[in-house]
Amino acid sequence: MKKLLLVSLTLQLAMVGCTVDNPVDNPVKDLSTQEAFDEYKSSYISYQLAEANFFEPEASFRQSLLYRMCQAMPKGADLHVHCDALLPIVEQIKFVSDHPNELVVCCVAGKDFGMLRYIGDGTPCPEGYKTMADALKSGCTQDDFVRAWTIKGTGTQRAWDWFEGIFDKNINLTSSVSLLEDYYTRAFNFYLDQGVVHMELRPLFFGDHAAALERGRAFYRAMNTARKKNPEFSVRLIGCGLKAKTDAYDKTQYNEMLIDNAVYVSLNLKDTVAGLKDFLVGLDLVNEEDLSVRLTDFKELLANARKQNPNLHLTLHSGESLKSDNVEISSALSLGAERIGHGFNLYKYPDVLAQVKQKGIPLEVCPISNHYLGYADDLTQHPAKDYIRQGVSVVLCDDDPAYLEGNPYVDDVFAAVVAWNLSLDELEQLFRLSITKSFLTEDLKQQHLASFEKRWAAFRAQKWQ
Ligand SMILES: [Zn+2]
Repeated sequence: MKKLLLVSLTLQLAMVGCTVDNPVDNPVKDLSTQEAFDEYKSSYISYQLAEANFFEPEASFRQSLLYRMCQAMPKGADLHVHCDALLPIVEQIKFVSDHPNELVVCCVAGKDFGMLRYIGDGTPCPEGYKTMADALKSGCTQDDFVRAWTIKGTGTQRAWDWFEGIFDKNINLTSSVSLLEDYYTRAFNFYLDQGVVHMELRPLFFGDHAAALERGRAFYRAMNTARKKNPEFSVRLIGCGLKAKTDAYDKTQYNEMLIDNAVYVSLNLKDTVAGLKDFLVGLDLVNEEDLSVRLTDFKELLANARKQNPNLHLTLHSGESLKSDNVEISSALSLGAERIGHGFNLYKYPDVLAQVKQKGIPLEVCPISNHYLGYADDLTQHPAKDYIRQGVSVVLCDDDPAYLEGNPYVDDVFAAVVAWNLSLDELEQLFRLSITKSFLTEDLKQQHLASFEKRWAAFRAQKWQ
């Protein structure tokens, strides 16, 4: 009788058709999770990662048993992910197709290709725009949209410039509250399927107080829909301001509005949704660091915001830079940041590194984002590899996954495992830290931790082929 293998259904399904490192003439082996992880990792050579195209669904690394193991393993929290950039692009194409009366897309070759427009308020469809279904019938291919909406299409442009253009193209993606709710319901379900149980999302609340509150409620409803699938799942919001570029925006006015709206949502959402406690729990400031206003310029704005709501946590993008004069991590700490977004250049400042380590301040590390935006051309040289081994708290995150990778979060886990030669114990610790360093209440952290320990033990007890 054929031997039964205690392999998760996910893995069994994923292994159908696999020919890369599971040749059919190999004898069946029963490997413990530890043995399988070590064996599959050693069969995947890190230099292959340099050639990996994360946008290619059929890329060989996706066929590897190690990748499938990374997919199947339970995970913790994703603490650094920006809004409107969550669904894999093939899912986003489907989302746009499913809303033909609200969203149309430019299907004319040229610089506007892929630009999304909202027509749900009766605005006439602009010339050259079509519903996604008609666009795909009229010669525009799915890969054209993958190029238009991801960093795959960068070509000769500077990566950051191309990347920011992607947000301009997609700015209308969640123009209405119903679009937002549907998009995030799909996104949360997708992350749940990847084993992520808590997310801290970073929205920008444009418009007035009422609009901000309405969008806050839509995020909350989307979370609750996902919780029907798994009641353990949770989401919290981190309201973002922009470290506006001096040449593009009036930094004061723009950021006051965004931070003011975030504080308003944090204080008022719970009064309009029965049973809700804290949903918007923190603040952050974002933008390309080397071209932005310094964090210290926002000292007063952040202090005022936290005076209005002293419960708000603070995490700040800082150290996402290769410049020699960038001391933003130090500034973030002086402003009271409890977590650091990226923290890439921490290795340049041993005193700051010692402080971060001693205080247990976690770095929200986003490997694939760092790779494609030019901070870590070779992921094997990414400094997080050393941070982890020096005892700095690191949590694995994915930043803007939709526009930077093919399979949100799992691609980052896989890249970190291969590039930094992470052991299974190190990976377990990263997932555990992502829960303990979240901005959830202690009670909820304990609930998530207890559940993680159970799921991880079950994963460790599996047998692999
Ligand atoms: Zn970010």
